[in-house]
Amino acid sequence: MPDFTLTIGGQNVAGAARPIPVIDPSTGQAFTDSPAATVAQLDQAVDAAAQAFATWQHSSHAERSAALERVAGAIEQHAAELADLVVREQGKPLALAQMEVGGAVAWTRAAAALEIPVEVIEQREGKRIELHRKPLGVVGSITPWNWPLMIAVWHIMPALRAGNAVVIKPSPFTPLSTLRLVQIMAAVLPAGLVNSVVGEAEVGQAMAEHPGIAKLVFTGSTRTGQDIMRRAAGNLKRLTLELGGNDAAIVLPGTDTAAIAEGLFATAFLNMGQTCAALKRLYVHESQVDAVCEQLAAIAARQVLGGGLEPGVTFGPVQNAPQLTRVEALVEDARAQGARIVCGGQRLDRPGYFYAPTIVAGLSNGARLVDEEQFGPVLPVIAYRTVDEAVALANASSMGLGGSVWGDVQAATALAPRLECGTVWVNGHAEVLPHCPFGGSKMSGVGVEFGLDGLLEYTQPQLLNING
Ligand code: NAD
Repeated sequence: MPDFTLTIGGQNVAGAARPIPVIDPSTGQAFTDSPAATVAQLDQAVDAAAQAFATWQHSSHAERSAALERVAGAIEQHAAELADLVVREQGKPLALAQMEVGGAVAWTRAAAALEIPVEVIEQREGKRIELHRKPLGVVGSITPWNWPLMIAVWHIMPALRAGNAVVIKPSPFTPLSTLRLVQIMAAVLPAGLVNSVVGEAEVGQAMAEHPGIAKLVFTGSTRTGQDIMRRAAGNLKRLTLELGGNDAAIVLPGTDTAAIAEGLFATAFLNMGQTCAALKRLYVHESQVDAVCEQLAAIAARQVLGGGLEPGVTFGPVQNAPQLTRVEALVEDARAQGARIVCGGQRLDRPGYFYAPTIVAGLSNGARLVDEEQFGPVLPVIAYRTVDEAVALANASSMGLGGSVWGDVQAATALAPRLECGTVWVNGHAEVLPHCPFGGSKMSGVGVEFGLDGLLEYTQPQLLNING
């Protein structure tokens, strides 16, 4: 295990706050400590980023792309180490962690390849009006514990590509892969361009309030996003907020459910259900609910639960104890309401935060498991009578990240725009791509990530109005 340090101004720096134990979710035991930053160290990181920004903002697009290409290569060189760290701190099976590292490389290259256009708005004799895009300054990034490396990359790379400098704070549950990523990046970038601090909410709150941070990109819960928005008002910080989701999927009546069951299971239980845009409520016509439940339960029964580094494992633990407690509480509430636990419904009798993949039938909107984001390995399957009723139930949520319609492609595509959410998939769910804008409607977020739209969120428009 390497020495974990903060990175401030291009230097490896010890944390001045009390170290944070990092727990392996497959054992429930701490396996190392993470350094933790004080708010004074956050100030140093912001100062270092501001100094780096003074030069970096004038770099050419070619220089920025080349720098990100170097970063992609460096991540590739450390791929095995990073995947191992993701498994140890996050708990997911190794193959999924390798996918996460592969995604980190792909998203870095995609950011490197993006071009920021100068838009000519008017061109005539004696008049030319152009819209330019300038970087904002220091970007603060705060990330969650479900896809720690991937989401760090989603935040950092477009920020740098657009000419900003970065201070990132990972979740204290999963700080290590981000600390290593930033060390690896710092070795191939100008000093201070990317800095890391680790801390609990106190450090995140200080970032949200920090006058030296021009923009904050946050991925996490809606409640924290609201707190950040309030605190960010002091300097009118630009915000991108990727928040909670409670994505509904509707299976159209008469669909061959045997043919889609694998797809439903894979997108609901992706990363043990701990994925913002996972399928979290499944609406099925009342005539087919029992069949779908049995099909999903059969797939659940085939999962091999265990630690992510054990061979053959397909399904890991929940990432942390509070989240496991929350998942248990939602299932117990469903049980108390008379729901049918089709499979699972309990922790495994072994150390670690293992919870059996669980299918719950017999609930509808109004039950906690349906109305609240479970963010874990539990899926409620809800019966509907008419498609209009299904759409109304799907939309009866304060959240609106993603949604999906499954069945005949034409009928499903016609229904899809009626869902109130940022992305609608037809015969799929949870697929995010580097060239496609992704973001939430309603209380699932503000702004988008990815593609040119995502990149432009890291810029300030400047209109150049030329006469003569
Ligand atoms: P969380 O909001 O508890 O924590 C996220 C981060 O914010 C952590 O780094 C945490 O230390 C920090 N933080 C906590 N309180 C803070 C405060 N008051 N001010 C500033 N920072 C603070 O979220 P989590 O439990 O780590 O992640 C799970 C949630 O994230 C789920 O709701 C999930 O849907 C959401 N999520 C959304 C997306 C998306 O793209 N929309 C992606 C992944 C996860």
